[in-house]
Amino acid sequence: MQQEQHPALAAAAAGPSAYRAYARQWLGENLPQHMRADSLEYRTPTLDECRDWEASIYEAGLAGMTWPKAYGGLGLTLREHLVVNKEIGALAMPESVSSIGKELAGPIIQTVGTEEQKQQFLPRILAMKDYWCQGFSEPDAGSDLARLRTKAVQEGDSWRINGQKIWTSGAAKAHYCLLLTRTGTVEDKHRGLLMFAVPMDTPGIRVVPIKSIDGKESFAEVFFDNVVVPDSARLGAPDEGWNAAIRVLSIERATNRMYRAWRFECELRQLIAACKSDPELSKLLNDGHYQRRIGEVVGEISVLKGLVERTVNQMMDGEQVGARGSLIKLHWSECHQAFESLALSLVSHVTPRSSALAQRARKAFTTAYFYARAETIYAGASEVQLDIISQRIMDLPK
Ligand SMILES: Cc1cc2nc3c(=O)[nH]c(=O)nc-3n(C[C@H](O)[C@H](O)[C@H](O)COP(=O)(O)OP(=O)(O)OC[C@H]3O[C@@H](n4cnc5c(N)ncnc54)[C@H](O)[C@@H]3O)c2cc1C
Repeated sequence: MQQEQHPALAAAAAGPSAYRAYARQWLGENLPQHMRADSLEYRTPTLDECRDWEASIYEAGLAGMTWPKAYGGLGLTLREHLVVNKEIGALAMPESVSSIGKELAGPIIQTVGTEEQKQQFLPRILAMKDYWCQGFSEPDAGSDLARLRTKAVQEGDSWRINGQKIWTSGAAKAHYCLLLTRTGTVEDKHRGLLMFAVPMDTPGIRVVPIKSIDGKESFAEVFFDNVVVPDSARLGAPDEGWNAAIRVLSIERATNRMYRAWRFECELRQLIAACKSDPELSKLLNDGHYQRRIGEVVGEISVLKGLVERTVNQMMDGEQVGARGSLIKLHWSECHQAFESLALSLVSHVTPRSSALAQRARKAFTTAYFYARAETIYAGASEVQLDIISQRIMDLPK
């Protein structure tokens, strides 16, 4: 992206309203109709279409807002990030196909990476040239990563890695894995954890896709069998990378996919429009039961918006996010699950005689319902968030 004189920077310099107007106009004019989930012309976009769309968002100055200019970012603040996210959320556009690179690997590399690693990886993530996957969870280590077994042994200027990861999202398409290993034994628990940027085409890596309940193969088991990487693939010293990851993860819980509340609202508009397009479904909107549930969802979305906006203000004032990220993670995942249950119960009334919009909504919301089941598990399960909130925010006994 050519940063000097970029129209996005000029709009941001003119203030939040000008930047919002710029983002709204650019996204509204450029998002293809066939990528809008609320359009009758919608068809599931291919990976390449999603990549090209995200690359064009970046070229328009609507991605990498907070990343330093030296690494391809815009050097702006979380406020501009929030402005753009609200506009992204308001449109029924595809989810990012590179969120692990942009929201996890990128921030960790900015925190612990060497200058060479920052130059090598960061601009390519923003320009959608590299996909990343996150190799943290193992069959015996999910919520409790202290049980991690994947082993890294130093051999001169390189490291030999052996072990297995599971639930690795996007592993089949990834160019790099943000891999968490240990240098000692399982008894070391949280000590000696070491992070790497491992190219996925390194000999000894085997990706075995896992089919989920929605029929997709979006995650995989990844086996590391005598995988040898140079020392330059290491992200930070033992423990340093992991401690940085913990900090990034807590911020990530609060800030990743910041558009969610606005996207949930967009989905709710889509659901109501689909119901109104059909005489039988319209009747359900007059039913007190559904009106109450819709009202509850609207209330929960408003709370989520407030939480996100307050967190951005606090972070802009220099406060640490700490455990408050858990409040946001818990709230968005539980709120969206409740919404998708409501949506499924409404679209279950769609019949072959229903309107075309209602038919589309049935397909879309059935898929979304199944995916929402995972939302209270990944990025930290709800029970774990409740633990964090009770102990670290409320100071309750363990
Ligand atoms: C769609 C999806 C995508 C994912 N993508 C990735 C990825 O890309 N990379 C990656 O590394 N991982 C990924 N994961 C894995 C995810 O991080 C783990 O599933 C999650 O951390 C939970 O770990 P677990 O599955 O081992 O369950 P466990 O940790 O075994 O938990 C099982 C149950 O016990 C509960 N529990 C656990 N500990 C406690 C506690 N202390 N107190 C109370 N209850 C507790 C949990 O809440 C849960 O209900 C993904 C998962 C999903 C569903």
